[in-house]
Amino acid sequence: MYVIGTAGHVDHGKSTLVRALTGIDPDRLREEKERGLTIDLGFAWLTLPSGREVSIVDVPGHERFIKNMLAGAGGVDLALLVVAADEGPMPQTREHLAILDLLDVPAGIVVISKVDLVESDYLDLVEAELEDTLRGTRMAGVPIVRVSAISGDGLSALLDAIDIALELTPTKRDLGRPRVPIDRAFSIQGFGAVVTGTLVDGALEVGQEIELQPGRLKARIRGLQRHKTKVARLEPGTRAAVNLSGVHADDITRGMVLALPGRLTAVRVVDVRLRATALLGHPLAHDAGVTFLSATSESEAKLRLLDCDEVLAGEQAWAQVVLTSPVAVVPGDHCIIRTSNDTAGGGIIVAVNPRKHRRHHAPTLLALARQLQGSPAERLFDALLSRPLSVGDARNALGFEDSEMAEALASAIAGGQVVQRGARLAARPWLDSAVARTVESVVTFLTANSLRGAAPREHVRSASALEAALFDLVVSEAVSAGRLEERGANGLAPAGYEISLTADQSAHVAAFIDALKSGGASPPTEQVPPPALLAYMVDQGFVADAGGGIVFDAEFFAAATEKIRDHIVKNGSVSLAEVRDLFGTSRKYAQAMLEHLDGQRITRRVGDSRVLR
Ligand code: GDP
Repeated sequence: MYVIGTAGHVDHGKSTLVRALTGIDPDRLREEKERGLTIDLGFAWLTLPSGREVSIVDVPGHERFIKNMLAGAGGVDLALLVVAADEGPMPQTREHLAILDLLDVPAGIVVISKVDLVESDYLDLVEAELEDTLRGTRMAGVPIVRVSAISGDGLSALLDAIDIALELTPTKRDLGRPRVPIDRAFSIQGFGAVVTGTLVDGALEVGQEIELQPGRLKARIRGLQRHKTKVARLEPGTRAAVNLSGVHADDITRGMVLALPGRLTAVRVVDVRLRATALLGHPLAHDAGVTFLSATSESEAKLRLLDCDEVLAGEQAWAQVVLTSPVAVVPGDHCIIRTSNDTAGGGIIVAVNPRKHRRHHAPTLLALARQLQGSPAERLFDALLSRPLSVGDARNALGFEDSEMAEALASAIAGGQVVQRGARLAARPWLDSAVARTVESVVTFLTANSLRGAAPREHVRSASALEAALFDLVVSEAVSAGRLEERGANGLAPAGYEISLTADQSAHVAAFIDALKSGGASPPTEQVPPPALLAYMVDQGFVADAGGGIVFDAEFFAAATEKIRDHIVKNGSVSLAEVRDLFGTSRKYAQAMLEHLDGQRITRRVGDSRVLR
């Protein structure tokens, strides 16, 4: 299916021509809508001599022209530029030509209308002037057809010309990710919410779950209509009226986009390859306030110029457009930039929600150029350079269809530029520098805490400011690259890391362990090492710290634990006095032993005695 749009100066006969071609009168549509016969306005349709059915966008009014052109989403397929024979090219003719250029409308036909009003010699002059006007635009060289909507002259030649032009125009592609940028939302009694728009990039079917973005409204397709006819399925490139259940028409606004759940994101910043129109009066300046339009969405915005300070008529530039309200666009979409109701320029969106770019920064400009021209694998790599993404988010950010994403991924992984862990994707340079930073953070911790055998994982994660899943990815990469080791349940250390004590510390440790060993159940409580060194001895399994300054030799304490356990097994329980006598020690030590065993959840206190847990 194709969408045709009309363009041209006011009163040059666009609406009359559409009526003559289609027999559809917008006023009659309005009446039929009121009687519930049709739910789509402003779009007429017709069947060409070849049997091809096409939609024609024609809502009168100059201000709405741009929006209508954009509402064709992905651009209209063919523009009919209408120029009245008695007036010739006029200011709006030129502005509309500039807009057709910005939107890369693939095909066009120039219609000289109202030919009944002038002599044929005069027509030749008008045509010559028109050819001048078209020079340098993408409409240069397209067929020029002379018609009179009143007498009917030239109408069948025009239909033939449309047929031939469309024959050469590729149909809108099915990318498996349907989108309907909504131009109208309303409710019909007994049916509920209805939205209209041009379906692009994929097919829709009755019964499908959908999502409206921005806003993440969920709904289900209850019915579909195309050109007043109910259908079960719609192909891309069709005018669509979609009846939705599970959502209120009041919550839906023009500019929202209907898509399959999870396929579109709310976008606040876009990178754009910008072209200023040849008609631009004042240069477009860096930081200018502009209006951004794409498909049916619109937002106030700030224009950040990345490679220059201003753009003059006809020039190109890289721009980052920061939007005031979110829109749901994808890379490859066209946009128009207006300043105080004048079309200043437009272009192609190359990235959505990118990070803030530095201006006049060569690597950024190179990466942007690759986004526009690079292979899918290069574009995927670039998109992942600043941060890892899930497969789904990367696909959405790049606007890839599923098969394109799969190919880009396979090629980027084979080339070693991209690493996949589960559903997460990271660019190799990002991962390498994240690993380096993590190792450094572990080393910093261990330098500051020289008696700790490992850095607590959570401490390193919070220093890295990475979310848990990403941090796990970085750690697993560091471990498999032999840079880090996991120590215990929650520790990280450089591979092969061992604590090295100073000579003083080693001597202190050795002397203390000797003293503990000979003390047995009544160890000395003087010369207990400072807390960090004691914690090291506990970590290393040299000692059991019962707290309160009482520390036992680890081997002694293990044997004592067995002895107490045996006693309880034989006698059902053990008392403080029994422990004291078992080990020939004092109450103080016996109590410390039992409380440490309670703390280790080996024993449990019941009244005055202990039983096993
Ligand atoms: P639009 O603003 O470009 O949509 O122009 P309209 O279709 O509203 O036409 C403007 C005026 O031109 C109307 O009064 C039409 O009747 C008249 N008009 C349109 N086409 C023709 C034509 O082929 N011949 C003559 N004589 N008048 C026409």
